[in-house]
Amino acid sequence: VTDQAFVTLATDDVYCQGALVLGQSLRNHTTSRKLAVLITPEVSSGMRSVLRSVFDEVTEVDALDSADSVHLALLQRPELGVTFTKLHCWTLTHYSKCVFMDADTLVSRAGAVVMFVSVLDVFFSNWATADIGKHLPFIYNLSSSAVYTYVPAFNHFGRDTKVVHFLGATKPWNYKYNLQTKRVMQDGTASGSFHQLSFLALWWNIYSASILPLLE
Ligand code: UDP
Ligand code: MN
Repeated sequence: VTDQAFVTLATDDVYCQGALVLGQSLRNHTTSRKLAVLITPEVSSGMRSVLRSVFDEVTEVDALDSADSVHLALLQRPELGVTFTKLHCWTLTHYSKCVFMDADTLVSRAGAVVMFVSVLDVFFSNWATADIGKHLPFIYNLSSSAVYTYVPAFNHFGRDTKVVHFLGATKPWNYKYNLQTKRVMQDGTASGSFHQLSFLALWWNIYSASILPLLE
């Protein structure tokens, strides 16, 4: 299956931190599929060489911007215009199949990756005609953000989460982490459920153990 790839996108060195944790989490759970990252010219050369040690393919693309400032202002996320850059995924035609994952996601369970891809197969086979019931199961795109939390579903599925998505303006790399106690530090205003905190801790665990040493 080397003609299949997981693809992510990082337009700057900050998002690269997320891409590296995602890449490492995929490495921890899969060996057979290629890992590819799309970057834009802003990404530093130091970061590029770190990316090359985790990903099989690092491809520079031009930034695409939706330039839709009106709608992005409504979302209060002006930085999201550049997410259009992920459309470059369609130019990776040397792969027969690509699974695009945001840089703020991570794979949290063994076996998840194989199941993820087969779920997508089912999903896309009748995508055009499928009803809402064919949407990706909740556990394959679990939002860990308090803003978007679906509390009952979170409580129900949290334990079985396969892909965690840290959706929203505050990303794991915006938190502080105590390397000694291995704890994510919460400021006074942040409230997080047990699951949310444990996903953050998982992200920081991978980051501190596998990524920080590469960045030093
Ligand atoms: N992204 C990026 N640089 C940016 C903003 C976004 O590279 O400045 C990429 C990155 O892969 C990110 C994806 O676009 O995961 C979608 O953006 P984000 O995850 O911030 O949106 P959310 O999931 O919070 O809606
Ligand atoms: Mn995201």
